[in-house]
Amino acid sequence: MIDLRSDTLTRPTPQMREAMAKAPVGDDVYGEDPTVNALEERTAELLGHSAGMFVPSGTMSNMIATAVQVPRGQEMICDELAHVVRAEVGAHAALFGITTRTFDSGGDFRAELPMSMLSPGSGYNSVRTALIEVENTHNFSGGRVARLPELRALREQADTAEVAVHMDGARLFNAAVATGDEPAEIAGTATTVSVCFSKGLGAPVGSMLVGPEDLIAQARVLRKRLGGGMRQAGVLAAAADYALDHHIARLAEDNARAHALATAVAQDFPEVVDPEAVDTNIVVLDLSTRPGTAFQAVDALRGDGVLASALDAQTLRLVTHMGFADEQFAPACAALRAAL
Ligand SMILES: *Cc1c(COP(=O)(O)O)cnc(C)c1O
Repeated sequence: MIDLRSDTLTRPTPQMREAMAKAPVGDDVYGEDPTVNALEERTAELLGHSAGMFVPSGTMSNMIATAVQVPRGQEMICDELAHVVRAEVGAHAALFGITTRTFDSGGDFRAELPMSMLSPGSGYNSVRTALIEVENTHNFSGGRVARLPELRALREQADTAEVAVHMDGARLFNAAVATGDEPAEIAGTATTVSVCFSKGLGAPVGSMLVGPEDLIAQARVLRKRLGGGMRQAGVLAAAADYALDHHIARLAEDNARAHALATAVAQDFPEVVDPEAVDTNIVVLDLSTRPGTAFQAVDALRGDGVLASALDAQTLRLVTHMGFADEQFAPACAALRAAL
């Protein structure tokens, strides 16, 4: 099967497994795993922040980031298609009493969208905005990149308003590779940043939350409370470390293959996708002008050996990753043409 459902489907390479097997380890809940400690320091530095904390998943990383910055009953403002409100099973509200208001960026993030919604809170009646959340790249809008000038404007204006900014940078390195911006420049526009090692970077498990030392110290307490304290986690950190060494530059190939897929689809069905809007490794197809639903398209594709996901009845998502090889490109295009 040609699997374009997600870049979480990547498997550790033999070289990555070798690095995992050789990793020195200790008990990370005691702060004694040298491989985890080194990865936390390295990732924080790479992202221009002072401290980092290794976590089992991006969902836990986002949950902890919002919980240490948004008091119960206050709000977070984010995109209506953000992972934090669409794909984390309501965690921020269910576990931490965080309320949410959303804006619709259509994948084109601008600082004014959240900034025009801020509420200072009256103390006894209205809800205070504590945090603005930005997803970069933006998964459900098709891997769109939030542009650096907009992110810089956001941070400046949010600082003035004394509102924190959290960046869900699950695929921040896809954005960096696509734009040529340094990861630290992008991550420097947020108070806290979460990155995933388990997406296009190809590690089996793990995310990193970076931010100021005092927030990361609070984050460690919450991680333990949530059951996210891991013991000899160095075997996992070694995979992430290997990915930082070897799998960042190659994200350019994933980005290029996604663009090529979109271009091939647009040749026959220009109303379904605009290849110029495919910034990174995710292609979202709008099937509203095609006969049948996205669910039917998923079934048809499966019959032709291609796995894809339906985000809703008219939206199909394809994600490229290192398990998608060049020789799979032509058959994938043929199956897409037939399904559409
Ligand atoms: C995958 C993803 C996450 C984290 O997902 P986990 O499966 O919990 O690691 C967070 N944000 C975005 C945008 C994602 O795509």
